[in-house]
Amino acid sequence: MNVYDSARMVELLTPLGYTVIDCAEDAHLVILNTCHIREKAAEKVYSELGRLRRAKASAAEEGRRMTIAVAGCVAQAEGEEMRRRAPVVDLVVGPQAYHRLPELIAQVERRQGGLTDTNFPVESKFDLLPDTRSPQGIAPFLSVQEGCDKFCSFCVVPYTRGAESSRPVAQILAEAQSLLASGAQEITLLGQNVNAYHGTGPDGETWGLGRLLRALAALTGLTRLRYTTSHPLDMDAALITAHRDLPVLMPFLHLPLQSGSDSILAAMNRRHKLDDYKERVAALRAARPDLALSSDFIVGFPGESDRDFEATMQAVREIGFAQAYYFKYSPRPGTPAAALACQVPDAVKSERLTALQALLNEQQRTFNRAKVGSVMPVLFDRFGRRPGQLVGRSPWMQAVHAELKSTAFGRLIEVRVTAAGDNSLAAEPLAF
Ligand code: SAH
Ligand code: SF4
Repeated sequence: MNVYDSARMVELLTPLGYTVIDCAEDAHLVILNTCHIREKAAEKVYSELGRLRRAKASAAEEGRRMTIAVAGCVAQAEGEEMRRRAPVVDLVVGPQAYHRLPELIAQVERRQGGLTDTNFPVESKFDLLPDTRSPQGIAPFLSVQEGCDKFCSFCVVPYTRGAESSRPVAQILAEAQSLLASGAQEITLLGQNVNAYHGTGPDGETWGLGRLLRALAALTGLTRLRYTTSHPLDMDAALITAHRDLPVLMPFLHLPLQSGSDSILAAMNRRHKLDDYKERVAALRAARPDLALSSDFIVGFPGESDRDFEATMQAVREIGFAQAYYFKYSPRPGTPAAALACQVPDAVKSERLTALQALLNEQQRTFNRAKVGSVMPVLFDRFGRRPGQLVGRSPWMQAVHAELKSTAFGRLIEVRVTAAGDNSLAAEPLAF
């Protein structure tokens, strides 16, 4: 979502004469768009600000002005405190206020001293951002839903991104059309809790994600559709049948489980049990037999015993994942889990992470190897490191390398998979 937000910030600032450059040291304006989900991500911001402090001082010596803004969820969480800790920062702007950037930058540059805007404004930023999107490549993101009301006990999102809100259907269709008109073929819908989507339709009714996907699938020029990230609770029947009925909806779903232990799931306030997750997965696999899953896991949540962790390992063995992300629990300020007494020692977290990682990596390798010899369509959207090589995505999000002429760039091409690595596939085109 930060990639999406950053692109929107660029679109907002382009009419004011800003262009994106490669080197922050030479910039007139630097925006750090930040993530607060785990401590490591948040700490990176301060080390980056240290580097920028030196760059700003050199710019001043040369008589150049450099304005430094911090956007995103670290900005939201820390607010004014951020400028106290890092006075080099001129502007702190939260994820729901960045549509005000032009005005805020002008204010900062006019007066001495900084500015903080971490309000959750009543107006939606989406109503105020430019209507048409600048070209965003072949496989862009499109944000449809933001914020979250689930309040999982480990998570900062409800505090930093705010309450759950969905964009109206017409606005999403218009943005999708503008992306398709400028060359997009695959669109990934984004939301912190994307399948909780409940936007107002052109008919005045509230549409769920299943219905929205159907409307998007009907757009001319769209060859692939994806959405992320989903909560198991919101995986409703309409969404599951969309997987059955829509060939453009890719057979790959990111569905975080977090833990395989019911007592940890309860302590996390996930509001479902392992069996509920398994039932949803069974329904999805019945609707779309080639569906593969990816997931998120947290190890070392407060109170997680060896038995709880073993339940996670067992759930992974039973369900089977094509890919996954795994994290050590990171206490986040202000969240209920951070205040729990029974924190797990870091050494135990590391041990569990290693074991889970080995199992998930093995599953990923097995999934990749099973594709060798098969024929699949690949959307080639990147140039490879070697000359004459293009890289694309399989329907299951695997990176696929092939020797192809550059005229194949941006095309959906049938390939036969010749080899599988841990993280990617090698393939040869059937006819091109
Ligand atoms: N809305 C999604 C997840 C969004 S956050 C969902 O409900 O599943 C992305 C991932 O970061 C989470 O799935 C979780 O695995 C991880 N995460 C969030 N907070 C964390 C924390 N405090 N410590 C470790 N991992 C965390
Ligand atoms: Fe965070 Fe996802 Fe839970 Fe919302 S549903 S609180 S975003 S982990």
